[in-house]
Amino acid sequence: MHSGPEDIAHAVSLLKQGRLVAFPTETVYGLGADALNAGAVDAVFRAKGRPATNPLIVHVVDEAMARRVSSQWPRAASVLAERFWPGPLTLVLPRAPAVPDAVAAGGATVAVRCPDHPLTLALIETLGAPLVGPSANRSGGISPTCAEHVRESFSEAEVFVLDGGPCVGGIESTVVDLTTDPPRVLRPGLITSDQIAAALGTPVEANNPGPAEQIARSPGQHRSHYAPATPLRLVAPAGLTQALGAEEGAAVVLGPADILVSNPHTSIEMPHAPAAYAARLYAALREADAQRLPRILVVQPWGDSPPTAAWEAVADRLRRAAAPREG
Ligand code: AMP
Ligand code: MG
Repeated sequence: MHSGPEDIAHAVSLLKQGRLVAFPTETVYGLGADALNAGAVDAVFRAKGRPATNPLIVHVVDEAMARRVSSQWPRAASVLAERFWPGPLTLVLPRAPAVPDAVAAGGATVAVRCPDHPLTLALIETLGAPLVGPSANRSGGISPTCAEHVRESFSEAEVFVLDGGPCVGGIESTVVDLTTDPPRVLRPGLITSDQIAAALGTPVEANNPGPAEQIARSPGQHRSHYAPATPLRLVAPAGLTQALGAEEGAAVVLGPADILVSNPHTSIEMPHAPAAYAARLYAALREADAQRLPRILVVQPWGDSPPTAAWEAVADRLRRAAAPREG
């Protein structure tokens, strides 16, 4: 049963007390707190076990609210907000003094976006203040794409969950830094750098896994992230048979319907198109983990050649899920 107006009213009263409320978006579920209340923001970091060096995205209802949390609002911000909000695009801008240090991990910039979900827009509108909203999971784990996933990580007493059904997008927003010239994509998402460049009419630097400085600028850059507990390996379609034959024990294989997998291995069918694949990805990784086999093999959905632009965001998440775990 999805949440209704009484749930929103209850959520707002909790947020006003500095408590945590998980909210649905078109990307993943967010762990919400009043972005202008430093104590509430600290509670988000504690609940997630999130390093203080990893800043949070501020969620707003519109450009006017975004201007309250940023100290400069360049023309590019207006153009992108007009074109893509509400939607999965986060803008990094100079931070306004009202935003607590912890939100920005002590930095001079703030990340802001307007999520595309009616429940959450009503929530922020009624509260009358922006919300921080990192993914509603323990730090480093798989992001939640439905209310049940959130409840697997947090007790009812700790986090009130607004249930808005499954997330239609399924992976985190694209993050674009507007404080650099040219603007730079820090984290790929469902809105591609080409779409951003087309909207701006100027070049945009695409995300490329890079220097330590860039890692600090965008937590989505941590090499290991979005990771199931089970070791995960990416394999090209042509390499699947050999990978299964290797003596590393039974595997859960995430792949297209036509792959051949036999006992003791199991399989989870994945969609063919990038958007459908993204929407299904995190739930599938959770299901794979729950099978408790020694390993997960993911058949590269983009095939045996390097990923095309349409697969950029999914490829980013899969590589991080496969990366060696960092502590
Ligand atoms: P999460 O909320 O877990 O999806 O991660 C937060 C994301 O917000 C990170 O991946 C960063 O890319 C982005 N972010 C938040 N604040 C900043 C900031 N001040 N500068 C750059 N990126 C940021
Ligand atoms: Mg996250």
